[in-house]
Amino acid sequence: MRETQEQQKKRVLKIIRTLRKTYPDVKCALDHKNPLELLVATILSAQCTDKRVNMVTPALFKKYPNAKAYARAKPQEIEGLIRSTGFYQNKARNIRLMAQALVKKFSGEVPARMEDLVQLPGVGRKTANVVLGNVFGVPGMPVDTHMIRINNLLGLTRRHDAVKIETELCRLVPRKDWTDYSHLIIHHGRARCIARRPDCARCEIRLLCPSKK
Ligand code: SF4
Repeated sequence: MRETQEQQKKRVLKIIRTLRKTYPDVKCALDHKNPLELLVATILSAQCTDKRVNMVTPALFKKYPNAKAYARAKPQEIEGLIRSTGFYQNKARNIRLMAQALVKKFSGEVPARMEDLVQLPGVGRKTANVVLGNVFGVPGMPVDTHMIRINNLLGLTRRHDAVKIETELCRLVPRKDWTDYSHLIIHHGRARCIARRPDCARCEIRLLCPSKK
């Protein structure tokens, strides 16, 4: 028999409780000190590990301390500092355009509303949710490839479209836990429920997972 939404909600609470105990210190893995730094780091994290991003951002943040500095920068200068994160020409272009839009429309400040953030070049819902949840204290549910894969394995969605999954999960996860839930699942995807080789035998939430092997 298919689980009802109420049953799913109860299971989600148990998953959150168990993963919080398993990963008590989990937080945003991208180093940042302000909203702009997190926005830039999140743009750089596309198709790249957080570890690699954290290696390039200290020099980048030092050279470009605010949106105006990025907006005025020559693309090649930014490219030179972010080359190792891959797709560096596109990323440099997006960072510059994003910064120019910040200067033009938001006085150089990162806005704290989803509808404003997603208007910025290179910023989709995932990036906007990361920024909202981690620097503005506005609950956000970033959906990346780990979130898509693991929530399907957990039977909490049958979709593969990030925006639709975000909507479904926001119904199942308490609002105050949205940001944490995403961190915990992404961390679990790196530590235990690894793509193509999930370690079900040692998985802390195996009793809550219909896909355990
Ligand atoms: S039981 Fe296996 S498939 Fe389910 S979450 Fe754990 S590692 Fe992933």
